[in-house]
Amino acid sequence: MKNIAVIGAGTMGNGIAHTFAQFNYNVQLIDVSQAALDKGIATISKNLDRMVAKEKISEDDKIQTLANITTFTSIKEGVKYASLVVEAATENVTLKSKIFKELDEVCSDDTILATNTSSISITQIAAVTNRPTQVIGMHFMNPVPIMKLVEIIRGYNTSEDVMNFTVDLTKKINKIPVEVNDYPGFVANRILMPMINESIETLYNGVAGVSEIDTVMKLGMAHPMGPLQLADFIGLDVCLSILNVMYDGFKNPKYAPCPLLVNMVMAGKLGVKSGEGFYDYSKSRKAETVAKMFS
Ligand code: NAD
Repeated sequence: MKNIAVIGAGTMGNGIAHTFAQFNYNVQLIDVSQAALDKGIATISKNLDRMVAKEKISEDDKIQTLANITTFTSIKEGVKYASLVVEAATENVTLKSKIFKELDEVCSDDTILATNTSSISITQIAAVTNRPTQVIGMHFMNPVPIMKLVEIIRGYNTSEDVMNFTVDLTKKINKIPVEVNDYPGFVANRILMPMINESIETLYNGVAGVSEIDTVMKLGMAHPMGPLQLADFIGLDVCLSILNVMYDGFKNPKYAPCPLLVNMVMAGKLGVKSGEGFYDYSKSRKAETVAKMFS
């Protein structure tokens, strides 16, 4: 295994590409948007600079890591030699189904297809392909170069060989795999998202302000960052999509997204990536501060 294609160069895709490239895999980073690819490479370069400054890697390591990444705007071109594809495009089941249909057609027969989805059924995604035994969930955490955990999600038809291979590969890039089964939100978001949603409800009900809610959870529960700041960091659109998948999947009102979250997403307040969410990132250096908390 030398070639790994990563689809989507956004928040997660550039981190996944960075991590594999740092461990000397050839990475084909694919996005429909050239601007997203340029921004993704710039982010990787900036994150590598930070690692050089902290003496975690050398300047030569940085140059080699960047040289290991090639960018493409076409899936067909990008996945030509890939033994593994990790899909990290927008959290939308229609989009992911379309991508996996295409991957199934253009990838070689033995290529393993992984998705970094936060909540969508692996079994459902696998069902659009003719290789459901070779489809698996590889749920990296944000920011990928820093966070150790990868949830490895076994779809209904995922083979034991593909499961073992993915677990081994995760260890090779110095991450810790945890095997879970395929139900909406898996483990991480099934527990995290209700907490984030409840913190937004708490704000919506006027119980306390943004900084008070975050301070209670940071100082009272020893969380490294408050739930509202974490939501900004994840992306409020991503949080909303995950809650909707769990709400639809379990048909349980406890996962219904707070109306304030819905309104903020409709208003384009998506958190760090749009410059404003529960906090304002346009004037302050909070985005930098958030990134530093993880480095
Ligand atoms: P993002 O919005 O930052 O990036 C998504 C990227 O996908 C964009 O650059 C977009 O141009 C690209 N894209 C859209 N359609 C495409 C297509 N057809 N082909 C190629 N590229 C396409 O999103 P993100 O936060 O990086 O999330 C990506 C995936 O990772 C989602 O499934 C999300 O649920 C999951 N995830 C997100 C987080 C997080 O904290 N943001 C954490 C874990 C998992």
